[in-house]
Amino acid sequence: MTDITLYNTATRGKEPFTPLDETNVRMYVCGPTVYDRAHLGNARPAVVFDVLFRLLREVYGADHVTYVRNITDVDDKINARAAETGRSIRDITNETTAWYLEDMAELGTLEPTEMPRATEWIDQMIAMIGTLIDKGNAYEAEGHVLFRVRSYAEYGALSGRSVDDMIAGARVEVAPYKEDPMDFVLWKPSEGDTPGWESPWGYGRPGWHIECSAMAQELLGRFDPEGKGRFDIHGGGNDLQFPHHENEIAQSKCAGHGFANVWMHNEMLQVEGKKMSKSLGNFFTVRDLLDQGVPGEVIRFVFLSTHYRKPMDWTEAKAREAEATLRKWYALTEQGDDGAEPHHAVVSALANDLNTHQALSELHQLAHAGDIATLRSTLQFLGFMGSTVPGWVHEGQDLLTGLAEMLSTARATAMETKDFGEVDRLKAALAEAGVEVRMSKAGVELLPAEGFDAEKLEMMR
Ligand SMILES: [Zn+2]
Repeated sequence: MTDITLYNTATRGKEPFTPLDETNVRMYVCGPTVYDRAHLGNARPAVVFDVLFRLLREVYGADHVTYVRNITDVDDKINARAAETGRSIRDITNETTAWYLEDMAELGTLEPTEMPRATEWIDQMIAMIGTLIDKGNAYEAEGHVLFRVRSYAEYGALSGRSVDDMIAGARVEVAPYKEDPMDFVLWKPSEGDTPGWESPWGYGRPGWHIECSAMAQELLGRFDPEGKGRFDIHGGGNDLQFPHHENEIAQSKCAGHGFANVWMHNEMLQVEGKKMSKSLGNFFTVRDLLDQGVPGEVIRFVFLSTHYRKPMDWTEAKAREAEATLRKWYALTEQGDDGAEPHHAVVSALANDLNTHQALSELHQLAHAGDIATLRSTLQFLGFMGSTVPGWVHEGQDLLTGLAEMLSTARATAMETKDFGEVDRLKAALAEAGVEVRMSKAGVELLPAEGFDAEKLEMMR
């Protein structure tokens, strides 16, 4: 069996990965808050942890991995969107959830084993909050229930900061009913149109953090073979480490459960070297890119070219290069057979703390070596070749086939007339469009190469 090594945020080091139960490897990843289209940065954890999910399935067997990614469908941003648009909350969350799943499918991600919606687990959250109050880790104040951060001595251990440092650096909400500004909301009152549920503390709704603790316990922790409430891996974006993940740990541990053994965080995404933000005008969604004709697999490829613990810089140049590479590989593997094992060197690269950059280099070598069957199976293993963007692979291929015929005819004519002007002109134009020309007695072969540009090709027809 392949040995997996993962970087654990909690210990700040790479560690051999040993699941609690090899027959049910369990992973939780914080999912989207569903009120709008996912922006490109939101897609990074979905792809990173999809690669890990695929690796775990490969190593332990597809039926022996449980991947839970929640859907936050109760949140003040959703309430605000409903108020702005006059639409019902359920309409907005249903539509946005469907968008999210469509967009992530375009990126070649597998659906997690379970995708619990927060609003379906309110009873479990209420039960956990009740336990926290009973144990003295939470208190009721003016219709709110707050977690008493200073009651959990290890608060801050994940991100390696003390509570006082965190107060200094964070935007903590000061409220008169809080014992301490660091205390965070477990339950808050609802009025008017705001969604709410009956609870021992009045009509209200949960704070954000409690849902992950409750759902992770119900769907993963309860399957700990030793009954300690632990599970294997918890993932999410770096921005969630504090306060969200610190709060999840505090809630679960104080409620008497174990929690994740390994914590994994992906770094953030930038665009052309700058932080993505609405004010810089470089803010876009996954759907924006897909609509511009950037195939989901190209986005996936660009993501995989950078290690998940490094900032990912999205650039148009990288997308163009990724597309040219994929077109080349797809053309090579079009006729290949299914059923080969994924390349062992690619599996090993991923087993080394998800070294996706190395995995892509191994694919280049496979393509170079001409091992088409393994290239094909490895591309599938990595989540490629499932394109749902109609025809993007074949569009370029059809163009190339047509141009190859054109060049072939021109060459036949030139052989008779001894005038190679037209052949040279076509070859120069193809080179300009990033196409490699291979001419032999057998015929003309055109391959997409570095700088492949389908638009320039289109103009040649
Ligand atoms: Zn979470």
